[in-house]
Parts: sequence; structure tokens; C-alpha cells
Amino acid sequence: MAHPPPAPRILPVKLFIAAIGTETNTFSPIPTGWSAYREDLFVRRDASQSSPHWFAGPLRVWRKAAEAAGHEVIESVAAFAQPAGPTRRTVWAEMLAMVLADLDAAGPVDVVLLNLHGAMVAEDEDDCEGALAAAIRARRPAAIIAVELDLHCHISDRLMAAADIVVTYKEYPHTDVDARAEDIWRLAMATHAGEIRPVMASIDCRMLAVWRTPRQPVRGLVDAMSAREGQGGVLSVSFAHGFPWADVPDVGARMIVIADGDAAVADRVARDFQRQIWDLRYQTRDTLLTLDEAVAAALSPELGVTVLADVCDNAGAGTSSDATFLLEALVAAGARDVLTGFFWDPVSVKLCFEAGIGSSMPLRIGGKVGPFSGRPVDLDVTVLALAENAQITYGNGKQALGDAALVAAGGIHIALNALRTQTFHPDGFAALGADIGDYRSVFVKSAQHFSAGFAPVANRIRYVSAGGAADPDFEKIRLPRAGRPLWPLVEDPFAGN
Ligand SMILES: [Zn+2]
Repeated sequence: MAHPPPAPRILPVKLFIAAIGTETNTFSPIPTGWSAYREDLFVRRDASQSSPHWFAGPLRVWRKAAEAAGHEVIESVAAFAQPAGPTRRTVWAEMLAMVLADLDAAGPVDVVLLNLHGAMVAEDEDDCEGALAAAIRARRPAAIIAVELDLHCHISDRLMAAADIVVTYKEYPHTDVDARAEDIWRLAMATHAGEIRPVMASIDCRMLAVWRTPRQPVRGLVDAMSAREGQGGVLSVSFAHGFPWADVPDVGARMIVIADGDAAVADRVARDFQRQIWDLRYQTRDTLLTLDEAVAAALSPELGVTVLADVCDNAGAGTSSDATFLLEALVAAGARDVLTGFFWDPVSVKLCFEAGIGSSMPLRIGGKVGPFSGRPVDLDVTVLALAENAQITYGNGKQALGDAALVAAGGIHIALNALRTQTFHPDGFAALGADIGDYRSVFVKSAQHFSAGFAPVANRIRYVSAGGAADPDFEKIRLPRAGRPLWPLVEDPFAGN
């Protein structure tokens, strides 16, 4: 009996992986130092095996795929800080040095896979991702370098030159973090095997906006991007929405297309999608309620649960998450059956824990970080629930809320927490015994990520502009360092070009 032919021998690949992220709001008064990383995610060498953090998700994807194939993985830093102001210069320098020291210790590597946010600004570095990728390229000129980014990123020429493969999330809310990590894996491995030769084009859209991908016409555009992949030599299509609250030279949206060996194809397809996004600019614009309209919505007798997003005070965009503009107005209007949160207020949380469940006391809520926070609101409250080290679901992972408390002030229930983060999911409220189905209106401090978890249980969703450090009024935003015209600051940013 003949033996079966031997399986082709696949040489083991040596991989170097790391993850560093934060989204820097250069208008935020909150500094980002070591504790911001340590209380969120900072693990060196084994985050993929030890941390449930969502930002370590791509590392888990890559390690699992690599080990299944018998490849060698060297893992370096995994770090994430809740978005805020610029990262301190010494923190960035130390973190960069750690990654490079780990790379030096690893010796030669075939493939470098990086999960980066893409909008990290340090005190003396506008483009941390470009700096990291360029430093790795300088040390490993022959390695394949592939980078995954949040779509809220700045794309620099330095990053594009240093990396072979750049892929951003396609979805906002970011439900595809791990799916894009799988794309990165496939593209990097096919490149290493010599099956493809990725070439990238990056086209500046010269636009500042927020695009919500579950809604048309953005949904159709994202579906068209996915459908284009695998057709006519196109390997990957990414729409980097950009992160507008950053006065840096690369602020603004970009289209990135990767083609197989043909730069002209990459360029043509990127320009085609850039034009589509531009042509849809008025249709994709947000409709936001004013503060007065939001209060009226909370008082209206509409049946079912209305979820209202306090988009200007979204910790995910670097804000304080303690702005009281809406809370103050809801109290003044005598609103009832309202749940609102999460307010970042460690002092109030501490007082609630000290008082205990069932206690009644005066409490000064929110309004503490700066002018974007509004005034503190003094209320007589009853402590309804307490939760130690609470967590909230985000994508395939968890985000820490820290200690949390639920208090009642008249007909308004207010959720407070000790670790600043946005209100990603109803299970954060559930950790305090609050079921959003029991309320007529629920105000969440989040711009869009909440919708993945809240949309299935909400009867309607409204977006509110009520003041904060992430105001989406891009006709008025001041970005003197952007270095080129951007819509909607100007009507036609391409005029004269
Ligand atoms: Zn994002």
C-alpha cells in the first residue's frame, strides 16, 4: 500500500506582537500618566494570556492563530489608557523603550503585528504610532510590519512608509476589533508566504465628521468596502474616520486601500471611495438634540424606553464624564423615571460606600474636572446600590468601572463610578441592579459605542449635544495645526488644488 504524500513542510514563523493605545483629546484637561495606563491595561509579555481587556483582543487572536500553526510568538507591551489629554513625555519614552528592548532581545523576527489606536499624542510627539512603527522598521528592515488601528486615528506618511499593512476597524460601534485582527493575520501570513505583495494608498479626505456605521447611508458604504475586498487585486479597504478633537497635523479622515502588487489599483480604489464619502457628506451629518429638546424628550409621554446619548461628554473621546449640564436641567424640570450615568466621581462613590445602601444624605455630584464639566449638582439622595470593582462589557472584552454606586434623587437615578470610562453597555447599570426597561428615559455618557448593547432594548435612540470636551460642532472647532483646509471648517477644502 502506497504511503500518502508527505504534507508540505511549513517553516515556523517568528512573530513579535504588541498593543499600545489611547485616543488623545488635545482639548482635554485630564493628563495621561502612568496610572491612567496601569488602572486600565498595562501588561508586559503575556496580556494575551492574562488579561480580558478588549484592547488585548487582537493579541489573543494572533497568539491563538500562531500557536495553532506552530509558530513562535514573542509578546511585548499591551497598554491602553482611557482617552484624555496628551500622554506624559516620560511615559511615552519609557513605553517605547520597553517595546524596542523586547524587540532587541527577540533577535531576528519575520513578522511584527501591532494593535495600536492611532490617535495617541504625547507631550512631545504628535504621532506616537508613526514613531513606533518607524523605530521598529529601522531595527528590522526586512520584517513584515502590519498595524491594526481604531478608525478614529490619524494616518501619517511616516506610519504608511514604515508599515507594509495598515487595517482599521470598519465598524462604529467597534464590533469588529477581533475580525480586523484576523484580516491582519491573513494578510501578514500570505505576505510572508510570498502569495501576495501588498502595496498601500492613503488618500486625505480633508473632512472632520462622525460617521455612525449602523445607519444608512454609511452602512451601505461600509458594505461596499467589504464587497470590494478580494475583487480585482484589492486586498483591504479601510476608512479611517479620524479623531477630530486633536490639534495635530494629521487630523482628519483618510481612505486606505491595499492592493496586490499594483499601486495604481490601490490609488484608484482609494480615490473612488474618498469621492463617495465626500458626496454623502450632507446625508451622513448628525442630527443632534439640543439640551432643551433632550429634556423635553425625557418629559414626553412616549411609550417605551428612550435612550439619549450625551455625546459631548464621552470619556471615550477624552472627556471628564462628569458634565452636569443635562443632569442640572433634568432636576430643574422635575423629570421622573430617568436613569443617567456613568458619572466619573470617585469622591461621591467613596461617600456612598461609607454611608451604605439605604442611607439618605446630601451629595455633590459631578462638575469637578473643569469648565467643560459644568457646575457640581447638590442633591439629597438615597443610596440604592453599591458594586465593588464593577465591569462593563465592550465588544468581546470588559472595561473596568471601578467601585460604583446608584443613587436616587426624586425620580432620577444616577450611576456614579470611580474609574473614568464611557457607558458601553446596559450590564454596567445591571451591576447596580438597574434594568433599563424600568425607566422611561436613559441618558448615557457615550457617543456611539453604547448603541451595540442598548439598541436591542431601546425603543428609540437620540443623540444630544449638551456641552463637554467632545463637542461635535466641527464648523467651530479650532485646529490651527491641521495645516490644510478641512470640511466643514471650509465649504470646499479642495478648492485651488
Ligand atoms: Zn474609536
